[in-house]
Amino acid sequence: MTQTKPSPSSGSVAHGDKLYEGKAKILYATANPDELIQYFKDDATAFNAEKKGTIVDKGIVNNKIASALFTMLEKEGVVTHFVRQLSDREMLVKKLEIVPLEVTMRNITAGGMCRMLGIEEGIVLKTPVFEWHYKSDALGDPLINDDHILAMKFATAAELDQIRKESEKINTILLAYFKKRKIDLVDFKLEFGRHKGKILLGDEISPDTCRFWEEGTKRKLDKDRFRRDMGDVESAYQEMLRRVLA
Ligand code: ADP
Ligand code: UDP
Repeated sequence: MTQTKPSPSSGSVAHGDKLYEGKAKILYATANPDELIQYFKDDATAFNAEKKGTIVDKGIVNNKIASALFTMLEKEGVVTHFVRQLSDREMLVKKLEIVPLEVTMRNITAGGMCRMLGIEEGIVLKTPVFEWHYKSDALGDPLINDDHILAMKFATAAELDQIRKESEKINTILLAYFKKRKIDLVDFKLEFGRHKGKILLGDEISPDTCRFWEEGTKRKLDKDRFRRDMGDVESAYQEMLRRVLA
């Protein structure tokens, strides 16, 4: 199946100019200067875009999963950029000035934490591990601390405090949500941005940005299947969509 090209209009919201094309998504302006269309592509990258490929229908799955998760988080009192899902691959969002930080929350060791500390994957952490990374493809999103952020004026101390508290709350909500769906939430990445003086959760939450293991079997249902050439990538993404919609 081929990936559909971005359509000229989505529901009642017309596309304006293409503002940005990233590795996994495209941002379009709308007639409303406060809102953007987020278009989800099937393109997949890993290892800072050294590995490139396509995951068939990933854009559709990630848009549906992220839309469902943002809707659920809003109900739980988390303020997000999500306005509504427009089509299979498109989401209407509030325009953010993205804080150039990636928050990583970890509940079980994997990926970067194992590489950094020379430890094995799958150790259940007594308390979640919170990390700031500087959002820079050129530098490989390096791990940084509060002092670096304040020195570089990436965010204020009040914003850091708010983002950290919000991330911990999101982790608690997502852990319970996925437990009900027999999924271990291993780790995930969040991005936040400023909108009319407020900090909102932005970007996406999906199998591209989280590690999901099936409870019991530990079968990976996320982008690690693509990163590690494990096969059955599409079916893993579809399985996560099925569980989210269940
Ligand atoms: P990347 O930029 O890393 O290649 P994507 O392909 O996912 O990643 O591109 C989406 C871009 O849009 C990201 O840089 C993200 O920070 C940014 N973004 C996400 N949500 C919003 C928003 N509501 N307003 C403005 N920018 C956003
Ligand atoms: N992650 C992400 N975007 C990034 C880096 C990481 O969405 O640019 C997610 C990744 O999918 C995982 C979590 O953040 O769920 C932690 O990733 P890690 O730091 O272990 O890095 P990785 O092993 O992906 O290089």
